[in-house]
Formats: sequence, structure tokens, C-alpha cells
Amino acid sequence: MLITEKLQAVLHNISAAITRRTGKFLTGQQVKLVAVTKNHSVPTIQQVVAAGVSAIGENRVQEALGKHPALDTNLEWHLIGHLQTNKVKQAVSIFDLIHSVDSERLVNEINRFAQKIGKVQDILIQVNVADEDTKFGISPSDTLQFAKLISHMPNIRLCGLMTIAPYCENAEAVRPLFREMYYLYEEINLLNLPNTNLKWLSMGMTNDYTIAIEEGANLVRIGTAIFGNREY
Ligand SMILES: *Cc1c(COP(=O)(O)O)cnc(C)c1O
Repeated sequence: MLITEKLQAVLHNISAAITRRTGKFLTGQQVKLVAVTKNHSVPTIQQVVAAGVSAIGENRVQEALGKHPALDTNLEWHLIGHLQTNKVKQAVSIFDLIHSVDSERLVNEINRFAQKIGKVQDILIQVNVADEDTKFGISPSDTLQFAKLISHMPNIRLCGLMTIAPYCENAEAVRPLFREMYYLYEEINLLNLPNTNLKWLSMGMTNDYTIAIEEGANLVRIGTAIFGNREY
């Protein structure tokens, strides 16, 4: 299948999953697709942009910096991979949304650099929903406290939560974790924190995005289902 055909199939699956949602009250019924373009070249990215993709996700700051100048300036850039504090300056300069905020030290650095360049940086808190040792992210039980801390930072705007669910052959197994994320999101929403514009629940990848959407995700990050397997 061509990339554009695979993209159409993904968009179709997203719409179908939205119709299966019940009792979820995230603002709007739309789901944003972030095409994950790590390890893919600029011409490949241009193909999906021509087919209507308006947001791309990259894992590494260095790789994104290399592609950034060659791509349409209207494209939205999402940082979805782990961010080291020594890359914050470059990350803040090119990314519209940083999904992977997972420590107080990191958030302080982001605030500092954003202030320097007069930007308010949109971010998501990465939640380690299953408390896996192998994954980055804030533990669910610490997330509310972390959201409160962020709400006092003038150059950061908290826009929601992100998670990477454990990989399971049968994605149904992670449905309860997506549901837990949705409740966590709602809890933060009810706090009515200052400086906060809660609007994104970023969860769902190739293996599990339809289930994530059914459980309330409104931003999915999809690579393999659009581009095929990555070559490392
Ligand atoms: C690579 C990656 C994705 C996309 O994964 P696929 O399984 O290829 O869809 C999504 N989110 C994050 C954080 C990733 O690193």
C-alpha cells in the first residue's frame, strides 16, 4: 500500500473509533493525528503533508533540527521523545508542543529558556501510567502535584497529559490504563489551575490507537501504520 493509502486507512479508523466513544466529555469530538516521522526523510514527510497531515512528531531534537528548515513553516512540530536538559534550548526554539515533560528540573529549564526568547511553551506531562521501570514519566500518584507546580511557571502552559502504554500483543489489555489516564486528566481539569489550558490527552500509537480513542484520547501519535516499519 502507498503511504497515502495507509494514511487514509488510519484516518478512517480514527473516525470509526470516535463513533464508538461513550460518555467521554473531552472538548470537541475531533482527534488530532500527529504523524510520527522519526527515522523518515524530508521527502517522505512531504508526501503526508501534501496529503493533509498538519502535525508531525519527532523523538530526537537533533534529528528534528536537521529536517526543520526544509519543511513548510505551517507544519506543527511535536516533541514526543525524552528531552535532556542540555537540549532544551533547541527544543524550545522549534517545537510547538513538548509531550515528554517528566521532571521538575526539566520544567525549570524549559521555563527559563522560553522566558529568554519571549515564548510561552505549550507542554504535556508525560505520565508513566503503569509505573514501568523502563519508561520515563511522572507516576500517576504524583501527577496532580506536578501539574500544580507547573501552573506557577509563567512561560509554560500546561495543555494536557501524554502516555506511552506498555506494549501488549492484545491491545485490549491496556484499555484500563487509558481509562485511568482519562480520569487523571479530568481530575486535573477540575482543579482549574491558573496558566493552564487543558485540551490534549495524547495517547495511542499504531498498536493501540483505536482503543485509546475509545477511552478518550484526542491526540494520537502514529508512525508505523502510516509509514511502515522504521529502518534503524
Ligand atoms: C515512535 C513513537 C510513536 C509511534 O509509534 P508507532 O508504533 O510507530 O505508531 C508514538 N509515540 C512515541 C513517544 C514514540 O516514540
